[in-house]
Amino acid sequence: MKVFLRKCNSYDQVEDILLPVLKNYSRLFKPQETVLVKPNILSARKPQEGVTTHPAVVEGVLKFLISLGVQPIVADSPASASIQKAAYESGIAQVCEKYSVPIVELNDPVEVDGQVYKKIKISSQVLKANKVVNIPKLKTHSQMILTLGIKNTFGCVPGIEKSGWHIRCGTNENFAALLVDVHLLVNPVLTVLDGIVGMEGNGPANGKLKDFGVIAVSENAFAIDHAICKRLSIDPQMIYVLKDAQKRHLIPSYEIDGDWNSTIELPITAQALPVPDFLKRFVRSIVRVPKISKRRCIRCRICEERCPAQAVQVSKYFIDYNKCIRCYVCHEVCPKNAIDLVRKFL
Ligand code: SF4
Ligand code: SF4
Repeated sequence: MKVFLRKCNSYDQVEDILLPVLKNYSRLFKPQETVLVKPNILSARKPQEGVTTHPAVVEGVLKFLISLGVQPIVADSPASASIQKAAYESGIAQVCEKYSVPIVELNDPVEVDGQVYKKIKISSQVLKANKVVNIPKLKTHSQMILTLGIKNTFGCVPGIEKSGWHIRCGTNENFAALLVDVHLLVNPVLTVLDGIVGMEGNGPANGKLKDFGVIAVSENAFAIDHAICKRLSIDPQMIYVLKDAQKRHLIPSYEIDGDWNSTIELPITAQALPVPDFLKRFVRSIVRVPKISKRRCIRCRICEERCPAQAVQVSKYFIDYNKCIRCYVCHEVCPKNAIDLVRKFL
């Protein structure tokens, strides 16, 4: 198993750097197959904001697939906007138009059983496609610490279905197990990570831009995520999904082809020290909580609509911390970075 790490400091270089690597994977695809391409189209944000997969990387992957005679479709289920709006803002809709590739919302949930969780609703478009290609973005994530290849496939759970899982899972560890289950069900044959410009600090939508300068490619997203952690000097055991994957023996031995490494500032929600299992619920109750900034809030109410615990009351700028489960979805979906993550008693 190989993980290709290619230094790439500009989106203008993507085609020259990515296409020679992708040629190693031509054997995975057959002419006329339907291949569902899953970028990170989290919300309606511009390419330079570092929230969504850059259109240049999507274009590189589409060019490669089209050259093989396959029929790609681009799909996602954004957290806080329609696919049309989010794909247009991100520049991905324009790339799809250029190559006459359909872009679709991942809806029509179908129940399937995972290894840990039963009755997971995955979009029928994903299950019907012959293959899936995963194109995540390298970002921090206030709940899951990092979002890379494994987490990106959670977008295959349609829209509002995602919220309920935060409540059902209850802890970060359980939520990570769900993400691993979903990833195994989606089962992408290829993962291409856009780490040219990503995000550090309090990602995945309101962190700080960071020039990581890398594109990573592998058949195995567990291997990519593990390799990226190592090259960012992060202990993979700190990353909930990798810890779960390791317990299930899902991280293959792999060889790295390339010499990239970098650093990253983790979210303030990341715990520096491991916490024993019996203390996890307690620690979670005192970790950072979301707080609405009256100054920055535009009262769009997206946070209120998306909060799985119904803990937000925008009219009073109020969050009920007895209901709040610290999933930070409100922080993720806020279009104005108007939710701060603060210590509860400050
Ligand atoms: S906090 Fe953000 S998402 Fe919530 S209402 Fe204000 S601007 Fe909208
Ligand atoms: S208030 Fe925010 S962090 Fe708390 S449960 Fe709701 S969405 Fe999650």
